[in-house]
Amino acid sequence: PIQPRAQLDAVDTVCPYCGVGCALTYYVDRVRGGISFAEGRDQPGNKGRLCVKGRYGWDYAASPQRLTTPLIRVDSAYPKGPLSADVRADSQLDGFAKRGRGRRPGGLVPYEEVLPHFREATWDEALDLVAERLGGIYAESGSAGIAGFGSAKCSNEEAYLFQKLIRTAFRSNNVDHCTRLCHASSVAALFEGVGSGAVSTTYGDIANADVAIITGSNATANHPVASSFFKQARRNGTKIIYVDPRAGTVADHADIFCQLKPGTDVALYNGIMHEVIRLGLVDRDFIAERTTNYERLAETVAAYPPELAAQITGIDAETIREVARVWGGAGAGVIYWGMGISQHTTGTDNARCLIAMCSITGNVGRPGTGLHPLRGQNNVQGASDAGLIPMFYPNYQPAGDEKSRVLFEEAWGTDLNPENGLTVTEIIASVLDGGVRGMYMLGENPFMSDPNINKVRKALSQMDFLVVQDIFLTETAEFADVILPASSYLEKDGTYTNTDRRVQLGHKVFDPPGAARVDWEIVQDLAQRLGLDWDYASPREVFEEMVPLMPDYANLDYDNLGSTGKLYPNPDPDGSDGTVVLFDERFNTADGLAHLVPAEWLPGKELPSEEYPLVLNTGRLLEHWHTGSMTRRSFALDSIAPRAEAYVSPEDAAELGLADGDFARVESRRGEIVLNVKVSHREVKGNIFIPFHFREAAANLLTIDEIDPTGKIPEFKFCAVRMAPAADR
Ligand code: SF4
Repeated sequence: PIQPRAQLDAVDTVCPYCGVGCALTYYVDRVRGGISFAEGRDQPGNKGRLCVKGRYGWDYAASPQRLTTPLIRVDSAYPKGPLSADVRADSQLDGFAKRGRGRRPGGLVPYEEVLPHFREATWDEALDLVAERLGGIYAESGSAGIAGFGSAKCSNEEAYLFQKLIRTAFRSNNVDHCTRLCHASSVAALFEGVGSGAVSTTYGDIANADVAIITGSNATANHPVASSFFKQARRNGTKIIYVDPRAGTVADHADIFCQLKPGTDVALYNGIMHEVIRLGLVDRDFIAERTTNYERLAETVAAYPPELAAQITGIDAETIREVARVWGGAGAGVIYWGMGISQHTTGTDNARCLIAMCSITGNVGRPGTGLHPLRGQNNVQGASDAGLIPMFYPNYQPAGDEKSRVLFEEAWGTDLNPENGLTVTEIIASVLDGGVRGMYMLGENPFMSDPNINKVRKALSQMDFLVVQDIFLTETAEFADVILPASSYLEKDGTYTNTDRRVQLGHKVFDPPGAARVDWEIVQDLAQRLGLDWDYASPREVFEEMVPLMPDYANLDYDNLGSTGKLYPNPDPDGSDGTVVLFDERFNTADGLAHLVPAEWLPGKELPSEEYPLVLNTGRLLEHWHTGSMTRRSFALDSIAPRAEAYVSPEDAAELGLADGDFARVESRRGEIVLNVKVSHREVKGNIFIPFHFREAAANLLTIDEIDPTGKIPEFKFCAVRMAPAADR
């Protein structure tokens, strides 16, 4: 029975899932132990609302599968050993396929098979070994031999300490995290265009917009509470233009739905801008006073009349003209975008077009206008702000810039490497080339999350030394030499920064289980063993060190964040919630202007062919999160969505002889998976969608590892596959 609310202990914290970062309260039964229920709090970004993940998805932290003691590999034959990496990868894959169709425990790492290859160890033993082995590789191979993947699920303080450790102990900028897989291209385009990688306004500001373009975002599944603000705004009169190859449920609420062919975004936005310019709907004063390079942009889009854009995108020319009229005629227009824009080899070009769309119509710097890449994980904004990226120190101060380097050398009391580091995808390639030999992986699971994972598996299995710090035995941890049991967000204090730039405090609810420890303490213990004189007593002390090095966070401290956090920048946190709309007078670029960068449309890297006739799109479901390590251990969430499914249009299903629930084999040039079919009217003929949460039908076995040349983000949204009926595994 649930205790009366008055007898429960209320602890305020932040949802651990998406970038919306909903403020919530857990009601904790200290007598029986455990959380009784969760409730949203009245923070401006969620106004008491929670989606199914925030409301029910916290029980994974109490899973009996939590790691509770450090583990050291004893048997180098699994999965490392004399076999070639190819054979190991294939034999593991066979194992996954035999283990079931996504029903627990079939979809999770087989603990009983993996754990015998490790022995329990003390923290001293484990950390001494990590320091000795990583230190040894650094001594032999220098900075190039070491890399670190941090986590967007950790706090700002943990992200800051992790990058500081890799940069100071190993003098390496090879430190990155999953931002490389979600919005790296958006950030690259925003830095180039407006001088800041963060959003220029909040998702709640849609209430002030006459029109909003929501593009490449299945917001109802991926940012559910933000999408409730979108739907509410529409009811209050904001026109919604929804652009996506899939008819996600946002389409049901749109005034105009542009169901474009995958990978044709540049052609569509160039076509719209062509028409906006032709109709004279540009804001001439804004262009003259606040932008640069308009002529080149206009010249480029002149070559994309709506008829051509229609031919490329599959959207009829009249709809493109109508979008141009609505967008160009609006008093206030805002654009929200997701990974349908960013996860392409043209991701940076896609985002450049959105920046230009806003800039030529004067839709930046006023209420109800602006640019908002909907950030994925709950702290991907904060982890990026805190410097968990190879080319930037905290607050996006360039690692290759001498002034920035000197600033951090003085702050941290050591020499730093003047070379930019490698990104997530480049690190994997470097391991295969014998460059990076030792890695510290905190809370990342590239075995499942990176593209073309047979290649990732090869890299993981040939690494000289891999330490994985996580809360579960993840697929990546199977390859580790040392596994360090870490803490969930429920077991620590810290700050988290959401997609709106809201910095919020998370509070500890429970102690970590067994001998598991708080992440920042583990990082500090390792730093001390590597000779660094760190002595932080709390996350508060780390935050106090960070903020003076991060001008955007100026004036924020643990005591003025309050129970609902503050937006940055914030000149007066005691009196204000922070700045909603940026760039009202100038952009953050050196000259204060928005830099318009034209883009030509380029097709995807792997086009459909006779042999592989379908286009594969990958992404998330409402109920699950990324590689599934958390949500697949949540009873409610896994019960609602227990298995991997390939979403197929009724036309393709009929042509292939597939019915709802049948098994199908999906193959690309890189691998194959077998999974159930979901016939869905939300897909169009020629495209299929597969979520990437399910180990037993891992979508990233199929994806291509080509990357955007600027943002270095992989093309998760486009590769060629074929599909055929399959017998049950
Ligand atoms: Fe959590 Fe995002 Fe859902 Fe809010 S919308 S409850 S942050 S998953």
